[in-house]
Amino acid sequence: MKGLPSVDRAIRALSRFPGVGPKSAQRMIFHLLRGEDKRADELIHALEGLRDQVGCCRVCHNLAEGERCWVCEDHSRDDTLLCVVEESVDLMAMERAGLYRGVYHVLGGRLNPLEGVEPEHLSFASLQRRLEAGVIKEVVIATNPTVEGEATAHYISQIVTPYIDRVTRLAYGLPMGGELEYLDESTLYQALAGRRSF
Ligand SMILES: [Zn+2]
Repeated sequence: MKGLPSVDRAIRALSRFPGVGPKSAQRMIFHLLRGEDKRADELIHALEGLRDQVGCCRVCHNLAEGERCWVCEDHSRDDTLLCVVEESVDLMAMERAGLYRGVYHVLGGRLNPLEGVEPEHLSFASLQRRLEAGVIKEVVIATNPTVEGEATAHYISQIVTPYIDRVTRLAYGLPMGGELEYLDESTLYQALAGRRSF
């Protein structure tokens, strides 16, 4: 945009987000610039909050504002039941389905050697430490039904089986290639209720 490098930079930054192309990024930026009210200030403060306040839970690696996430802080949860998910958005999808009352472990992604994601990049080491503590009795593997998600599930099962007898996998009537995040609650509820031994 001629003579407006700051506008260009803002549009480029926004258009890197999933589902936002250059056109909608431009619309959003012009909306901000038009605002006589505090739209830009609100956004700046919200982003500062994200940067400064949101980190990851020391126990399960879920997003947290503080040392532990709200699941790990909730002592009514069953801490003998552990569900392993790829990302915090998958945890949130499981919570929306409403059946699960255990705790979680968030891997921080899925194995994808072609894109350079190896086991040491995910939180397997802390998963193993949690298993060694001896409290967990069942592990539910809830990686996404994709090729990488399946490979990750197999890797998890290898880590878990020396410690745990009951290792289950969500019952995938789930569509292959789908993501937990986009499943409706009842599909996910059925997948959890019908979980099978791995
Ligand atoms: Zn946590």
